Amino acid sequence: MNIAITKTTTPKVMPPEEKLGFGKVFSDHMLRVDWDVENGWHDARIEPFGPISIHPASTVLHYGAEIFEGLKAYRRADGGIQLFRPMENIRRMNNSAARMCLPTMDEADMLELLETFVRLEERFVPHSFGTSLYLRPFLFGNDESLGVHTVKHATFMLIASPSGSYYAEGINPVRIMIEADDVRAVRGGTGEAKCGGNYAASTRAGERAVQKGYTQVLWLDGVERKYIEEVGAMNVMFRIDDIIVTPALTGSILPGITRKSCVEVLRDLGYKVEERLLSLEELVSAMKDGRLKEAFGCGTAAVVSPIGRLSYRDEEYIVNNEQIGEVTQKLYDILTGIQWGKRPDTYGWVHPL
Ligand SMILES: *Cc1c(COP(=O)(O)O)cnc(C)c1O
Repeated sequence: MNIAITKTTTPKVMPPEEKLGFGKVFSDHMLRVDWDVENGWHDARIEPFGPISIHPASTVLHYGAEIFEGLKAYRRADGGIQLFRPMENIRRMNNSAARMCLPTMDEADMLELLETFVRLEERFVPHSFGTSLYLRPFLFGNDESLGVHTVKHATFMLIASPSGSYYAEGINPVRIMIEADDVRAVRGGTGEAKCGGNYAASTRAGERAVQKGYTQVLWLDGVERKYIEEVGAMNVMFRIDDIIVTPALTGSILPGITRKSCVEVLRDLGYKVEERLLSLEELVSAMKDGRLKEAFGCGTAAVVSPIGRLSYRDEEYIVNNEQIGEVTQKLYDILTGIQWGKRPDTYGWVHPL
């Protein structure tokens, strides 16, 4: 793939690593590739980071044709840089695109775009453990017409944000509210795709949870409102007795790469992992009987996020004394160890640049 590079003439000063936060500062450049029906993907280019111009009738602004991915570039102790299972993100991006009738891209081409961009932005990969350069590829329908039809023009972009450690203040278990009214996704809908609209639709419940003193919501399935699905923008796992239970990927749940990695690591450690339907009723009775030992969310941003309290309607349950559990801690240590290059990668998951 031919990528035209125009470098910035005003390089930014990287803020101190402890002040980075998440997704607030961006690197010097952005990458863009256009697509249309006649020419396919063309005009790959890296340009100085800045506002983009968009036609007021552009498909994305009216009909929400947009998907994205989220992955990180990690700095190893030896100074090198690596990605974590990038092909998984690339494949999921293509699956999301197919669901939304947006164009897919050759996997090797997308990997080359990622690699070229991260190499160029190398100095924005922070050095402290837990920090990373967050990569946000996104793709949107960009027809300059209000007709509702399959898009004939689309734009792929990649931006990068040096981000601080998610656990700068230490790992504190979060409070989660089980959402009884709104739903995030239904089977056959877009729950499996990483599309912007899923987030727009789930903001209301998230806001209500925050007003009541919770961090996030735990979603129930959209049809029966009976089965546990996922939490906020993370997949969810429960340790019931000594079995790790996580909702099966039934079609309305986002297939997380962290989830998949946790399942593999747990099985390797000898834990029994069940990917199956888990009803709220079963979870509540496990909480009441003291059989729920640990609960945690898992996703790229936090790796794992222990849940210390769960509420449903007027009942509140404390999990593991609001402490991080043994399994959660083990997963955190192993996954972050591999990602930041502190542990040997026996899985072949890291992709050094
Ligand atoms: C991205 C995302 C996840 C986590 O996926 P990872 O690949 O582990 O980062 C889980 N749920 C939703 C809704 C997501 O958007």
